[in-house]
Amino acid sequence: MPDFQKDLEALNRIPAPLLRWYDAGARVLPWRSDPQPYYVWLSEIMLQQTRVEAATPYFERFIAELPSIADLAAAPEEQLLKLWEGLGYYNRVRNLQKAAQVVTDRYGGQLPADFEALLALPGIGRYSAGAIASIAFGLPVPAVDGNVLRVLSRVLESPEDIGREETKKAMGAALEQVLPRTRPGDFNQALMELGAMVCLPNGAPRCGACPLQDQCLAYRSGTTGSYPRKAPKKARRMQERTVFLLVRDGLVAVQKRPASGLLRGLWELPGTDGFLSQDEARSYLAGQGLFPTGPLRDAGKAKHIFTHVEWRMRGWAAPVQSEAPGLTFATPDRIFDELCLPSAFRAYTGQIKAFVKEFTDADS
Ligand code: SF4
Repeated sequence: MPDFQKDLEALNRIPAPLLRWYDAGARVLPWRSDPQPYYVWLSEIMLQQTRVEAATPYFERFIAELPSIADLAAAPEEQLLKLWEGLGYYNRVRNLQKAAQVVTDRYGGQLPADFEALLALPGIGRYSAGAIASIAFGLPVPAVDGNVLRVLSRVLESPEDIGREETKKAMGAALEQVLPRTRPGDFNQALMELGAMVCLPNGAPRCGACPLQDQCLAYRSGTTGSYPRKAPKKARRMQERTVFLLVRDGLVAVQKRPASGLLRGLWELPGTDGFLSQDEARSYLAGQGLFPTGPLRDAGKAKHIFTHVEWRMRGWAAPVQSEAPGLTFATPDRIFDELCLPSAFRAYTGQIKAFVKEFTDADS
């Protein structure tokens, strides 16, 4: 078990310069200007895999449509998924809603001001519970994410693997002892901000702009490129897919993905495993009862990276006249305005309007 108790003296030297730096130039963000618990919670969940610049418009749209936890609890799933479209990791928004329903039933629509009670809610782990408890309620608990671990690994020249849950826990236990009791939320946000803006990943920290230069062992010994330590990730599995843009009478075929597994329950363009040639694609479609009324058009290649798998895709577009079980033919407006198609298909959804026009013009 990693132990950072020996580093308490070094950690104790961080809060004062860090908070001075934060006070002088923290970014103005909507959930900081109005840190009500719902906003802090939502922003922390959105920011788990997304940069602030990308998450901010999503956040603003989300709270405009669902201004309270009760609204979130009662929202139809299709609306929720649409609000999340493009952020990925759709389980996060499903868990947000489950937690909102618990909060509505059990706590009268207000998040509990208690770390353990927050931790017990669906989709809220130690990091999110710490962030909400400290930022929204001023409770002295740490919030240790990848940014924080990277900064502290460099400051302490820590040899511990930051990918291990034990390292995170031990760092949290040590930080809890040095958190400034009067400003725990600001301290946590300042550490996250430093990791996001200055102590950047991939060996590229901007040490010249860092308030912790004097405290940072890696900076002093010129070893910033060697920290943080992290075991290499397992290689992703490659999966080849063929994606179809099928157009009938100005409508485009979409289907729901299965209720379990990757992108569960979301809409998608129909497709199949493998990298099909034009002839193979035509045979595959015929096997589904779909007979293109014209030549298949090449919609190009694309790839999309998920956490554990990478899709290598090729696309074929075709005008069809037939139906096939499981397919829904929808207008492009409905696809863009109402249905949630994950960004994995962006290379092809971006061509929908052009192919609809081409195949419709050809018919007329
Ligand atoms: S001095 Fe450099 S390596 Fe050390 S915490 Fe600051 S930015 Fe990171």
